[in-house]
Amino acid sequence: MTGEQIYVSHAPSDLELVQELFSTVKNFPFGVHITFEALESGGSRRRLEGRLANSDVVVAVLTAASADSQWINQEIGYAVAKGIPVLPLYDDESHRSGFIDDVDGVQIDRQDPSITIFNLLSRLRSELAPLGALSVPNWYIRFPCTIPDCGHPVTLEIEQDQTKLWMRSKHGKLLTTSCARCGSTYAFEPATIGYVRRDDEGTRQRRAGRYDSSWSRS
Ligand SMILES: [Zn+2]
Repeated sequence: MTGEQIYVSHAPSDLELVQELFSTVKNFPFGVHITFEALESGGSRRRLEGRLANSDVVVAVLTAASADSQWINQEIGYAVAKGIPVLPLYDDESHRSGFIDDVDGVQIDRQDPSITIFNLLSRLRSELAPLGALSVPNWYIRFPCTIPDCGHPVTLEIEQDQTKLWMRSKHGKLLTTSCARCGSTYAFEPATIGYVRRDDEGTRQRRAGRYDSSWSRS
């Protein structure tokens, strides 16, 4: 898993919803192309066509707002014709129709986005990193350490399968990883892989240690 391309087809008024649901996915080493982010930053429809053609999975966000969008339907039709898997993310069963009425999707839970994010990650995981009997699931996020003047890449390896992540979440057990350079520890919510907090204890202890040793020398 590295460098897979995800294309998110959605209605303009669903941009905020899409950004919330994909905030975590963007930490994974994927290219995530959100239609109206690309258009707002000056991308053209023609360039988007190229991204769509090169994507490994197309997520179609199907809501009341997208129901009448001719070009979301066109993008879905294009993906299906090219053999690119389409993952429907829908508010209501009735929004799923046409090319993808028999494709498993993820229902959007507006009351509890974390469930939607968990289900979205589960589907992307099975789509992009299928677990063979002997294969090691290579599923991780990487981000720059947020300690000023550090910025070292920090990796959270996710070794648990989705069921175990869900159980961990239910038990309130966070996932943690540390910066190899400064020792700061980062905690994440297991179901959504959402950032929870940074613990600088390691950094503080080492600074305190340096202080103590210089103090004792004098
Ligand atoms: Zn660091």
